[in-house]
Amino acid sequence: MEYVIEPPATPSLPVGGGAGNANAGADARFPVRRIYCVGRNYAAHAREMGHDPEREPPFFFQKNPDALLPSGSQFPYPAASRDVHFEIELVCAIGAGGSGIAASGALDHVWGYAVGIDMTRRDLQGAAKKLGRPWEAGKAFEHSAPCTPVHPAGAVGHPAEGRIWLAVNGEIRQEGNLKELIWTVPEIIEQLSALFTLAPGDLIFTGTPAGVGAIERGDVMTGGVEGVDTIEIEVA
Ligand code: MN
Repeated sequence: MEYVIEPPATPSLPVGGGAGNANAGADARFPVRRIYCVGRNYAAHAREMGHDPEREPPFFFQKNPDALLPSGSQFPYPAASRDVHFEIELVCAIGAGGSGIAASGALDHVWGYAVGIDMTRRDLQGAAKKLGRPWEAGKAFEHSAPCTPVHPAGAVGHPAEGRIWLAVNGEIRQEGNLKELIWTVPEIIEQLSALFTLAPGDLIFTGTPAGVGAIERGDVMTGGVEGVDTIEIEVA
């Protein structure tokens, strides 16, 4: 078979060996098929966005895999926005697919974990919300998914508690704990796999704690999830 144009490269992330051991994977890569994101999954963040966390089931949106940006890279300030926000998130990497996965067995489908930032053109997202339109312009733009290497669950376990934080220029802006997740990783996989067939290579950004805010050119974002990894991205 011959393609009529050069086929695009498979997006991928490096594989790490656990927190503080990012190079252990050598040349190994985790290929990425889809990126799912969970909306409003920490109560305090749902409230800061004007919603009642007690009443809303989880909902999902997607980013494109080619929007991944490795930790240590520069994030080019995107076009068409003047209000670009950070959202630090635990990222779950799927190693075994399926649909209709029960929460009780969901962790068997997880290959590992990473730390990501769900970069958001908040002004475009806000306009879309107001008009009842899709969120792609706010969420799925180029470089909108900075992410660390993926660490195998064998090295980092299945983190269900631990500090999650983000600082801008050294000043803490987001601070939370994984145990505050409204929907846990197994519950997210159960709900997501009721809507879509999950497959190896899927990433799930699991939601952000309170404190989201805007960045400007020249800012340096650092963040992390205790026991998983830390991420650093400079805004260019
Ligand atoms: Mn998010």
